[in-house]
Amino acid sequence: MKKKLVLILFFILMACSSYAVDLFVPASVKQGGVITVFVKGGEEGLKISLSKGDKFYSNSECFEDNLDGHNVIIGLLGVPSTLPVGTYTVKLEDQTKNIEVIKESFICEDIPLNSHMTSLRQDDGEQRREQARALTKILLKVNKDDVYENGILKKPVTELRITSFYGDRRTYLYDDGTKAKSIHNGIDYSAVPGTSVYAAGEGQIVFAGDRIITGLSVVIEHLPGVYSLYYHLSGIDTELGQSVKKGELIGEVGATGLATGAHLHWEMRVGGVAVKPEPFLSTGIIDKAFILSNM
Ligand SMILES: [Zn+2]
Repeated sequence: MKKKLVLILFFILMACSSYAVDLFVPASVKQGGVITVFVKGGEEGLKISLSKGDKFYSNSECFEDNLDGHNVIIGLLGVPSTLPVGTYTVKLEDQTKNIEVIKESFICEDIPLNSHMTSLRQDDGEQRREQARALTKILLKVNKDDVYENGILKKPVTELRITSFYGDRRTYLYDDGTKAKSIHNGIDYSAVPGTSVYAAGEGQIVFAGDRIITGLSVVIEHLPGVYSLYYHLSGIDTELGQSVKKGELIGEVGATGLATGAHLHWEMRVGGVAVKPEPFLSTGIIDKAFILSNM
């Protein structure tokens, strides 16, 4: 009798310690894209990462969301536009899956800067560095309960003219004849000053204020680790901590900070990584079709 009880206890323990977690990862992703990771049988807070060998390129945590009436555990990993093509590993605890990072094309552009813009860009003062540290801290936060938006985003301005694209390889031509290379992290929409700027999706305002390089700026948190950023505004019509709906007015187009003309710089970050914004306007933040096909 005692032996039987010990056996039963043993099997209960085994069942508890080896609960089945299935990891689903798409076969491929483009440079600058987002990987939707689906974790069947998992729980929120599990850590996920994108790596190759012992090098890590992107990290985040899983969260729970409701997609078409199903509660699912998902994670989102941003892929840097600079990541070389090849086979990478998506890791969740002790499970791994391979993913191919495939080529995306990016434009090269030269941007001449006048003396004022040159001095702004070359500014390496403590205030600028402190502003960079503070923004990075916000963008790296993964708050697993902050699930506001999982649908298709709305373009933040009605203007169609794009003057710079995501991932543009830029060369800044300084007025002293020197050059510096940089990568453009968002889309620039050209628009007349004062044009309305709308929240691309539902969320919470996690930054609203002035910065040396990006001018009057707003940052919205949409999902754990997913943020949209709006730069160079002439005015801000929202405040820190406020909840916003998709399409709600948050500010006006301007040319504050490092800007050679009035435009809206719109950027998307996933796990701190700047990713291509356009797919958010067609497929949405989460690849729902991928998750539903693996349910
Ligand atoms: Zn820009």
